[in-house]
Amino acid sequence: MKGFHEKTARYWNPVLETLPQEKLRPLQVKKFRRILQWAYERSKFHRKLYQEAGLEPGDIKTFEDVARVPKVEKAMMRDIQRKDPFPYGDALCVPLEEVTVFRQTSGTTGTPVYQPDTWQDWEWWSEAWAYLLYAQGYRKTDRVFLPFGYNIFVAFWAGHYAAEKLGCEVIPGGVLDTEARLLKIQELRATAMMATPTYVLGMADTARKKLGINPAKDLTIRKITCAGEPGASIPSTKQRMEEAWGAKVYDHVGATEIGAWGFECVEQPGGLHVNEALFLVQLEDVETGELIEEPGRKGKIVITALDRIAQPCIRFDSKDVAEWSRDPCPCGRTFRIIQGGVTGRADDITKIKGVLIAPSAIEEVVRSIKGLGDEFEVLVTKKGDLDDITLKIELLPEGEGKREAILGQLKDQLRLKTNLGYNIEVHPYQSLPRYEVKAKRFKDLRKHG
Ligand SMILES: [Zn+2]
Repeated sequence: MKGFHEKTARYWNPVLETLPQEKLRPLQVKKFRRILQWAYERSKFHRKLYQEAGLEPGDIKTFEDVARVPKVEKAMMRDIQRKDPFPYGDALCVPLEEVTVFRQTSGTTGTPVYQPDTWQDWEWWSEAWAYLLYAQGYRKTDRVFLPFGYNIFVAFWAGHYAAEKLGCEVIPGGVLDTEARLLKIQELRATAMMATPTYVLGMADTARKKLGINPAKDLTIRKITCAGEPGASIPSTKQRMEEAWGAKVYDHVGATEIGAWGFECVEQPGGLHVNEALFLVQLEDVETGELIEEPGRKGKIVITALDRIAQPCIRFDSKDVAEWSRDPCPCGRTFRIIQGGVTGRADDITKIKGVLIAPSAIEEVVRSIKGLGDEFEVLVTKKGDLDDITLKIELLPEGEGKREAILGQLKDQLRLKTNLGYNIEVHPYQSLPRYEVKAKRFKDLRKHG
């Protein structure tokens, strides 16, 4: 029995999280067929999509067959909404009265997409988050603080419910401002919190400058779960957060239309486990669409939520790019790992001066240099026919004496890691914009003249 208890203590779902891949795959395919059938029978949107591709749910028999099913893109979901059944449109697979909650995407890449969920979907959302919080060491003894605006964005809502489901004590830090949140964390000795990387760093900054609190010494937060931005998978940003808070920082990846589909475990293996009990994730070659199974080759992430019923997520084209890890994780989970997390969106990767660049590469460099503040901004413009790239940074007060050395190091590292030259603008400490949710640090003004 000893082995059994060790196992149950380690995993939220000891059976599924340690199921060998050869058993996991048939289970995924079976569940994929089930959700495909569900959508085919109940939604005009899905039936039309599959009929036009000459496909019926029964045609899908293997993992490879799954890749034949047409993908769904965000824009397609945008086109059907505001129509009947209002406001979701005909991808809805349940009677409208079964819908218990409305959410919408943040709209960073265009018009927001509406997302209906039933109560069963909502239980599924918190179940997905329960896997990830448990893997990150959340237990009944934790007092979890949630410093986010509880509103129409899904953000950390499911994290809240999952923490309760685990038996943690949850403090909803909704409409409080940053200082009040910090004081509450201190007053109640909270042990864990969830926030975007930008806000995690911003809170630490406010604590030190406005309240004279050093989060690493004066507060008791020892676990932080990040979402919304790739920062927790960017080594230098992760290190900054961990040092500022004296806490372990874990990444997680999810989206309103998909669910919480990947997470980092306590072993911090340098990547994110895909929750293969609840999701089927495939990587496809960006150009040919060929299924990528081997490690180390980048591909587009295509995701199916196997159990989401109101507005199913079947072969959703996430526009994110990633690669499979070579190594199994010491935690013993058999769920495959996305190496290095999800740090490059296909949308974000852009060509500047003929060089392909992901904004996360600039972040990695800026945050790796001691003496620079956490905030920065990248501005891409056009001067005549030439691209021009400006990087605005803040020098920390303690960096003033070493200004030339720091800027020299920054330029060298940028050239080395991104193959580009930048105009560097040094701004006074704390003068660049601060963000509470998703930061907008990368501004490409070339399209607007
Ligand atoms: Zn692991």
